[in-house]
Amino acid sequence: RPIEQLQAAMEDTAAARRATKVKDAVVHWFKMDLRTTDNRGLWEASEKARAADVPLICIYVVSPEDFEAHLTAPIRVDFTMRTLHALKKDLAALDIPLYVETVERRKDIPERIVEFMEEWGASHLYANIEYEVDELRREAKMVKMLAEKGLAMEVFHDTCVVPPGELHTGAGKQYAVYSPWYRSWVAHVHANQELLSPFDPPAKNSSAAREKVAALFDCDIPDAPESKRLSEKDAKRFRATWPAGEREAMDRLEKFCEEKIAQYSKRRNFPAEGATSSISVHLAAGTLSARMAIRTARDRNKTKKLDAGIEGIQTWISEVAWRDFYKHVLVHWPYVCMNKPFKPEYSNIEWSYNSAHFEAWCNGRTGFPIVDAAMRQVKSMGYMHNRCRMIVASFLCKDLLLDWRMGERFFMENLIDGDFASNNGGWGFSASVGVDPQPYFRIFNPLLQSEKFDSEGDYIRKWVPELREISGKAIHDPYHRGAGSLAKKAGYPEPIADHKNSRDRALKAYKAGIERD
Ligand code: FAD
Repeated sequence: RPIEQLQAAMEDTAAARRATKVKDAVVHWFKMDLRTTDNRGLWEASEKARAADVPLICIYVVSPEDFEAHLTAPIRVDFTMRTLHALKKDLAALDIPLYVETVERRKDIPERIVEFMEEWGASHLYANIEYEVDELRREAKMVKMLAEKGLAMEVFHDTCVVPPGELHTGAGKQYAVYSPWYRSWVAHVHANQELLSPFDPPAKNSSAAREKVAALFDCDIPDAPESKRLSEKDAKRFRATWPAGEREAMDRLEKFCEEKIAQYSKRRNFPAEGATSSISVHLAAGTLSARMAIRTARDRNKTKKLDAGIEGIQTWISEVAWRDFYKHVLVHWPYVCMNKPFKPEYSNIEWSYNSAHFEAWCNGRTGFPIVDAAMRQVKSMGYMHNRCRMIVASFLCKDLLLDWRMGERFFMENLIDGDFASNNGGWGFSASVGVDPQPYFRIFNPLLQSEKFDSEGDYIRKWVPELREISGKAIHDPYHRGAGSLAKKAGYPEPIADHKNSRDRALKAYKAGIERD
């Protein structure tokens, strides 16, 4: 496993790293941890620099290939760029420079970082671990490469509350089911309260240290690559909808805890209500740590226990924990990163690959109002409510029998909070091919979902303006509930599938796929 390659590289270089003397500077390499507060790697780097009274320098290096490889949505790239501007300012207030560079090819990043270290006489590189396969392999190579050059690279678990690999079943295995994993996760955090302790922001560079790296403060942040740039109109709109930076993340979290968390367990499934935190964008960019999210929620509770007290808080914490769960899965079963279903018996389903259906799904024109509302929300905001993510994912795989990987990819290309592990986990769950999934024979009925979770049709009316004039229950299925002529006149499409027939077809296809295995 790639994580073991990294661990081995750390072990093999331990003596050399210990022996490496601090030279002229220490570097922190930012990746998806774009914050100064409660950032373990950054704090460790700062401590090293402070002890030796040398400057702490920060670097962020990206390649356009990176954005392509991760299928990163333009809205996400824009958010990252705005976050970098905010971060540069926050660091400058601490007299720490942030140097941002674009390199042509992804594979050039390690060499460029080493070059940069040599230019500034830096002896130590600090970074938080990212758990995707390519990133783990790259880090393992870098640890060795730096050691060979007499430099030291130190890496830290930071993005999860409980580091991957810590929790095991009674038989010593990795959990593949969320509920027992969650009980173990809670017990582990209770027994290791320091996992929720915050890391201080980095110490200010001394004025002498600042002086030595003064030139770096003048370097501009490059623009996003052409292919990922937003139109001016969209950029302006998204700046207002999704303000960037760690202060904004914290404000959003505090406001949610103040106003909504107590009702979260009762209201979270209703997409029209805005009852969730919408902090996924900040957890994905690293402008907020999961530790901070959970600690802030816990501190609003009457108890220090994560699974007791106010129900809304308990439920919300258990949702944030899903993020840890899917990262643990990714680290233990890295093949989920490689377009493979978690359960091999689901490799042989014959998908339909009907491009007209896929297009209708992508454009919110399936004739199923709840599905179309959700797809238009993601196109417009780069975000979709969790209930709706499950509805549209189930609709894609089961009602349309389209390959779940097409939907997974579309989400990454459009979400502002696209996170490989959570997205893969969510698609695996909905398509019944993932870890701890919805059983394949449990198929969401989009109409019943719509009536249950958007009973008044407020969410549909918000995102599907053609249906705004339709009143009552007809909003959920205008062509079968007497509002067909109104819908047609407004240009709303007829349903592209019949749920009952589609359901039967999906059951047959899944069953045949499993039997073929
Ligand atoms: P809240 O309800 O306030 O939850 C708080 C936090 O808990 C979230 O920000 C998120 O970090 C975490 N969380 C909640 N539910 C889940 C979950 N099911 N899985 C993992 N983490 C969770 N989440 C992403 O962050 N990125 C994705 O790319 C992503 N893709 C998804 C794809 C599908 C098909 C599905 C079904 C779910 C996906 N999710 C993804 C999970 C979830 O939908 C979002 O995290 C959530 O909607 C974000 O809104 P929020 O911040 O208001 O959530």
